[in-house]
Amino acid sequence: MALSKLDQLYRQVILDHSKHPHHHGELTESQTYELKNPTCGDVIQLHLQLDDGEVKEARFTGEGCSISTASASMMCDAIIGHRIEEVEEMIHDFSSLVQGEDVDNEALGDAALLSGVAKFPARIKCATLSWKALEHLLEEEKSETCVCHYHKEEE
Ligand code: ZN
Repeated sequence: MALSKLDQLYRQVILDHSKHPHHHGELTESQTYELKNPTCGDVIQLHLQLDDGEVKEARFTGEGCSISTASASMMCDAIIGHRIEEVEEMIHDFSSLVQGEDVDNEALGDAALLSGVAKFPARIKCATLSWKALEHLLEEEKSETCVCHYHKEEE
């Protein structure tokens, strides 16, 4: 497949996520974190249900541009059902990815398609908004719970 065709395909997937976002909506009995991107005007409220060191459910509400909405949709797809340590790795890898670094993390799924924003520095904050909200929320969670709980040798 020619690169331009591939680019078109990526664009289509991103567009689909922004028009029909997955996991959009409120979540009862969840922890919420709101974050704004003043550069673009994006606002996101991320809702997470965490249980036993795992992301049980994730949803988002708010208003944003197509990149921030698509990114939040892809992120929720990627993190649900994963352990917090894995999710932290995804946060790190996604952040490297949109800064133009080569990242090989299959767990990112569709979110990996956003690597193209590395060429548009003004959009990087749109793409990372939901991931930053996620990072903050997990940090809050950690400061409230005994961290050693997540470091049990289970696997
Ligand atoms: Zn934006």
